Amino acid sequence: MKQSSQCAVGIDLGTTFSVAAYLDSTGRPLTLINAEGDTLTPSVVLLEDYEVVVGKEAVKAMGSEMERIADCSKRDVGQRMFHKALGGRQYPPEALGGWILNKLRMDTQKQLGAYHKVVITVPAYFDEVRRKATQDAGYIAGFEVLDIINEPTAAAVAFGYHQGFLSETGAGAQRRNVLVYDLGGGTFDVTVMQIDGREFVALATDGDVRLGGRDWDQRLLDCVAEEFVRKYGLDPREDPNVEGRLWRECEEAKRTLSARQRATLSCEYRGQTVRLEITREKFEELTLDLLERTAFTTRQTLQAAGLEWSDIDRILLVGGSTRMPSVVRMLRDLSGKEPDQSVSPDEVVAHGAALHAGLLLTRHAGRAPRFQIRNVNSHSLGVVANDPQTKELRNAILIPRNTQLPAEAKRIFRTRKAGQKSILVRIVEGESAAPADCSQIGRCSVRDLPPGLPARTPIEVRFRYRENGRLSIRVKVTGTNAVLEHEIMRENSLTRDQLNSWRKYISGLPPLAQIVSEDA
Ligand code: AMP
Repeated sequence: MKQSSQCAVGIDLGTTFSVAAYLDSTGRPLTLINAEGDTLTPSVVLLEDYEVVVGKEAVKAMGSEMERIADCSKRDVGQRMFHKALGGRQYPPEALGGWILNKLRMDTQKQLGAYHKVVITVPAYFDEVRRKATQDAGYIAGFEVLDIINEPTAAAVAFGYHQGFLSETGAGAQRRNVLVYDLGGGTFDVTVMQIDGREFVALATDGDVRLGGRDWDQRLLDCVAEEFVRKYGLDPREDPNVEGRLWRECEEAKRTLSARQRATLSCEYRGQTVRLEITREKFEELTLDLLERTAFTTRQTLQAAGLEWSDIDRILLVGGSTRMPSVVRMLRDLSGKEPDQSVSPDEVVAHGAALHAGLLLTRHAGRAPRFQIRNVNSHSLGVVANDPQTKELRNAILIPRNTQLPAEAKRIFRTRKAGQKSILVRIVEGESAAPADCSQIGRCSVRDLPPGLPARTPIEVRFRYRENGRLSIRVKVTGTNAVLEHEIMRENSLTRDQLNSWRKYISGLPPLAQIVSEDA
């Protein structure tokens, strides 16, 4: 199956599992297999002294080497460091994502031949900082990241492909409103999309970057642990290896409960054993509040899109956790419609990413694209400003959430004193008026203002969200054409040198002249 280096590859970098797909010679998306022969690669990294192990083998070590294992590192993306030291060392989440992606690159190159260009997916609810960090993880893994794409959008595109909307005759297909409910291992997204012929337009999006199947597992784990405490006064969660083993059992039991009415869990700790039979009913009771959180967000997103359930033509289920019968039942009750389970919830996102990669390669080759995507921003963009009335700092929103992308806003800042050399603008994302409650993108510093500017000279700063939710900034002295140099100083991002040395260390590949995630 060796292909050219212009192969269109898409990767779903998931919290618990990652998947790669490519387009075959007819443009059909197909899932790739890893070195173990599986389509899903657990997003788990084991850092031994002389070896890094990713995937299934790393999962096996969860019962014995937990202090060297990073799992769910996607939940920490956007932070400076992964929350736990591994073998006594701290690692940035981008490097952990880099190891996962590097394994996928190495494994899939065996089938496809050498390729470097990929599209990587991100939860629609990821903020700008997390989007950049995902692009950086791809770079570290030795890729040239063509683009990032929102997971629900990718799912809708793949759904459109499988429904035949992207075929020559599919262009005239009627307009459909699709609600994508995406519950993965670690994140939850809900997006309302309009599929109009070959145009995929996101109308509204919302979600939770810390809610997923992993939280359902945790409820089972806590249930067993509490039983242990009740019976023996011992808590198995105190030993990370015992907890790691128990988590694997709970995840298995959760899957069993999707297919059967009961499952048995057992836990051994310090010579004592607890065996517990859990019914599906009990499991659903233990996790009801989690499900209700997703129902609440789903209702809100529909409202933000300005639609009613009667306007929704399909409810698309994405993410492995939508296999839980309670999810299907909740959506059926909420909408009065039968959710669509026609696409594989594990693979559909990677398929959409491969289709998007194909679109970009087609565009680069100067050919007409097969479809178009239009997204919205999932968080409001603002700058930190002084409130003249309260004298307190507040988030002055410039681009409200759910605005069609690309979107631009401009704000005039004024120099305070004559001859001022620089200005500093703090950029945040979030809905709260309090800057501290928002996600901090960083500080944009404009240096080298022209000499001799009088006090209160207007400086125009233009903020632009690109189609993929990444930010770019242009700065001018109002009334002139010269674009001023500026730099976004990001608190939690790796520098170019750090990115290049991680790339060399993890993928063994040299730096690229252009790093796509760099601020423009
Ligand atoms: P994803 O990120 O889409 O790969 O989803 C992974 C999540 O789906 C993990 O939390 C899995 O435990 C969960 N999952 C996969 N299959 C099932 C199933 N049959 N029942 C319940 N959860 C599942």
